[in-house]
Amino acid sequence: MLKFIRPELAQLVAYAPHPEGASAPDTLPDFAPVATLDQLNANESPYDLPLVLKQKLAWAYQQELATNRYPDSGHAALKQAIADYVRQSSGAAITAEQISVGNGSDELIRSLLIATCLGGQGAILVADPTFVMYRILAETLGIPVVAVGRSETTFAMDLTAAQSALVQTQAPPIRVVFVVHPNSPTANLLTEAEITWLRQLPEHILVVIDEAYFEFSQHTLVSELAQHPNWVILRTFSKALRLASHRVGYAIAAAPLTVILEKVRLPYNLPAASQAAALVALQHREQLLSVIPSMLTARSQILATLAHHPQLQVWPSAANFVYLRLRPEALVSQTSADGALARLTELLKRQGTLVRQISGGLRVTIGTPEENQRFLERLAIALAHL
Ligand SMILES: *Cc1c(COP(=O)(O)O)cnc(C)c1O
Repeated sequence: MLKFIRPELAQLVAYAPHPEGASAPDTLPDFAPVATLDQLNANESPYDLPLVLKQKLAWAYQQELATNRYPDSGHAALKQAIADYVRQSSGAAITAEQISVGNGSDELIRSLLIATCLGGQGAILVADPTFVMYRILAETLGIPVVAVGRSETTFAMDLTAAQSALVQTQAPPIRVVFVVHPNSPTANLLTEAEITWLRQLPEHILVVIDEAYFEFSQHTLVSELAQHPNWVILRTFSKALRLASHRVGYAIAAAPLTVILEKVRLPYNLPAASQAAALVALQHREQLLSVIPSMLTARSQILATLAHHPQLQVWPSAANFVYLRLRPEALVSQTSADGALARLTELLKRQGTLVRQISGGLRVTIGTPEENQRFLERLAIALAHL
């Protein structure tokens, strides 16, 4: 249609963070209209910043932040604060030179793709189901995506398929392997076998380890970065640190790689207000992270309750969400798993709880105690109407 556009973009659909259910299911029971929706569909923190911290930010906005000036393009103060946080939480000797800051980790993913694969020079490897943004961003850049599968019982990566994809993929070869630790949407940590496989990948392959849920999992591979100049770890302020609205992510890697990321990104990629918010969040991280133990307790209780539903299959979680599927026996009155899941999603939504239908299952974020309670009650009702 537009003759100046790269043809491969014509096939792509713009990313919708909250896609509508696959099909509007028919014959749904009537529920009383709901005033507010519990948003358990995006893995955000259910907790806003405490008011005193918002006031602190408002004060900074009034007194310190000149809106007519460009933000700090080098993010010096923020990189230093992030390096201190990473050092403190991992024990690894990380310096500010090893940090690069992005407009969300999504920007860093795109920068990594630009730096490695653009112009027909490389393809990426992912293990589905996984975070969709690797594929989406690669596709918009014309970068081929090679996908391998996972075990249906444990969601462990098919390492045999991954290894043969690495050997066999040519023109262009695989330049980047993306893994999530723990994975989204399936919530499982990397296994020892997977980590062992990543350790032996040759230095001409970049290994991206996305630790978006680190604060919930408390598992990190930061301490191994020193031995692996081809590894980069991604983190975000969008989840445990409660700043999804501000779009702040960061990469941790050997300094030569962060130098490249700095070349690729937009010069003023992070607004001053976002830099200020990220600094405040780090200064007050003990307070912000103090809710995590109770969220992990809630996660155990939710998983235990879900495990009692004969229609559901659930898995352990190392993140702030749980993943569930319908057992085949639960599908008798439905033609397909996706149809049944769409109905379940809609039944929950009409009662006031949003969840994410994804990869043949539902991903449900751990919310406040009240939201979690309502989810469990509404799910029981929804399952009864399946
Ligand atoms: C939420 C999430 C991110 C965060 O992305 P931002 O752009 O920083 O908001 C990154 N990776 C994974 C796997 C996620 O689930």
